[in-house]
Amino acid sequence: MRLGDHVLALDIGGTKLAAGVVSRAGDVRSFVRTPTNVEEGPDTVVKRLLDLGRDALAEAGHGPEEMAAVGIGCGGPLDPVSGRVQGPPGLPGWDDVPIVDLVSAAYDRPSFLENDATAAVLGEHRYGGWGDVRHMLYLTVSTGVGGGLILDGRLHRGAAGNGGEFGHVIIDWRGRVCGCGQRGCIEAYASGSSIARRAAEALATGEPSSMRGLPAVTAETVSTHAGQGDPLARRVWDETTAALGRAVAVMVNVVEPQLVILGGGVTRAGDALLLPVRHAALSQAMRPAGAAARVELSSHGDTVGVVGAAASAFRYLDDGEPQ
Ligand SMILES: [Zn+2]
Repeated sequence: MRLGDHVLALDIGGTKLAAGVVSRAGDVRSFVRTPTNVEEGPDTVVKRLLDLGRDALAEAGHGPEEMAAVGIGCGGPLDPVSGRVQGPPGLPGWDDVPIVDLVSAAYDRPSFLENDATAAVLGEHRYGGWGDVRHMLYLTVSTGVGGGLILDGRLHRGAAGNGGEFGHVIIDWRGRVCGCGQRGCIEAYASGSSIARRAAEALATGEPSSMRGLPAVTAETVSTHAGQGDPLARRVWDETTAALGRAVAVMVNVVEPQLVILGGGVTRAGDALLLPVRHAALSQAMRPAGAAARVELSSHGDTVGVVGAAASAFRYLDDGEPQ
């Protein structure tokens, strides 16, 4: 292995932390995960993240000195230039965390921070095997909802570094209150935490359901019980896919992409998510835009976060500092 051919990638999510060693060709040499336990606060969580990175290095049989860099993906808002996490709704207490300084000091390697969904669209564009795609949109549906955008073959970062924040596309301006403070964002319907919350609200009305009495109801519980025919779970799930489909239709009209990729934990539901979202999105989009677009699931599954963080690190190494 030549020095410079691999990076350590760290993925900070509201539910899970992940780390992996990834080659320049996009091969994931190691992959480890652990719950975030966000209630522990940033100091403790960052310590565990750094340990997880050391586990990923050990599993791949490398030391940090063999890594060209460390790529860090995290939910926004954040500042890729200063390398600081700036209070993402999914990470309470992370109001001004100098993550790049902490990571660089821990491993003595250059480190780069990117919005996780921005990183993921880079990962899909570079390593997804989708062919020559010039216009591409990525939507992460996990604890929160985020997005990233490739326009004319280039990453669209926006004026303040957080462009492509599709989680806060508003599908109902009088709708549910979102974590961002606005009403009716797609995140307020389709994020894993919103799916679980809507199921809990429906259960609280006393309506019968096969989910009643379970110790915890998550988005995964809802999709499983919906698949088994439970009417309450079915209703929550159908509302989720309808909301997502509506939001994707809006984005398809605005961007007119060739490809829309859905990734993140909620997409583990597979076709139960993809098929209704694809149908709703492409049938509701304006005809030329809808006809030009494909809607697919991420080709990287659970490793999409580390593959994205790695793609972002290689991009910085090759193209220079964040602009
Ligand atoms: Zn919002």
